[in-house]
Amino acid sequence: MADKKKGRVFSGARPTGRQHLGNYLGAIRNYVALQDDYECIYCIVDLHALTTVETTKDLKANTYEMALDWLAAGIRPEETIVFVQSHVPQVTELHTILSMVTPLGKLTDLPTFKEKVRQQPHNVNYGLVGYPVLMTADITLYKADTVPVGVDQAPHIEFAREVVRSFNYRFGTNVLIEPQMKTTEIPKVLGIYGKDKMSKSLNNHIELAATPEETEKRVMQMVTDPQRIKRTDPGNPDVCNVFTMHKIFSPPEEVEMINVECRRAGIGCVDCKKRFAANLNKHLAPFRARRAELASDPDYIWDVLRDGADRARVIAEKTMEEVRAAVQLP
Ligand code: SF4
Repeated sequence: MADKKKGRVFSGARPTGRQHLGNYLGAIRNYVALQDDYECIYCIVDLHALTTVETTKDLKANTYEMALDWLAAGIRPEETIVFVQSHVPQVTELHTILSMVTPLGKLTDLPTFKEKVRQQPHNVNYGLVGYPVLMTADITLYKADTVPVGVDQAPHIEFAREVVRSFNYRFGTNVLIEPQMKTTEIPKVLGIYGKDKMSKSLNNHIELAATPEETEKRVMQMVTDPQRIKRTDPGNPDVCNVFTMHKIFSPPEEVEMINVECRRAGIGCVDCKKRFAANLNKHLAPFRARRAELASDPDYIWDVLRDGADRARVIAEKTMEEVRAAVQLP
């Protein structure tokens, strides 16, 4: 890795398979950009996924598809470490050690834990409670000093910092690094029905790897300004999700034209959506071509993930040697 970088970034995401526009705008785009200034470590956190998944049958395929999308989008495995969490088992050892300096009450008080209990009352497992400790282990095992987060995730990093302080204080060391947050402006990407956040589970998403035809079909289903019933009704782009997307993917002059014409019924929603689908397909064409190229060698992604885990393990084992010494494990 180059040594003139600003620091080391760690970020993890659960293996959710093929990525959608929400994943792209919320995380992947940022992952790609961070590589220019930071040493980056991106992890597919399959162990975290076990706390909530109903079945593990798709775990491997979802890991593969997600890694494929990341690389096709521009993550550069020659410099960035891309790997699967469970391939570096040292993280579970650090998790256990950190759990000894984490008060249980703090974990059960976290709003995210309470939310999960509401979502899956039939499966309030031990892993769910310890999830933030495992996340702290993920970050600190690789001595990452920077974690990119959206504002809503800030409490997680604050929690990780507290755990690090407790560990360092308890064992009179400074082996673990308190990570800093790098808050990024993450646009709220709504699903095609315009109400909820884009999400696979709600089936309101647009996959990056979809064909141009599938993409257009999804775009044509998008909900527009609900007040605009007839083609002759003037619309309000400010409340329209299609317009929000145009602002991200369409050229500025086209955005301006729609902004003006929609308000005086000069453009219909069908035409407006077709334009958006075309611009989106154009934007995603290089990604899709690269994806097909990478997928033509089925071993390539697993080779990248294996190599990433080898490199991650070197850092992890060094940290664990320091941790074991600080804790004075015999
Ligand atoms: Fe939305 Fe475009 Fe229809 Fe206006 S013309 S309401 S911006 S889809």
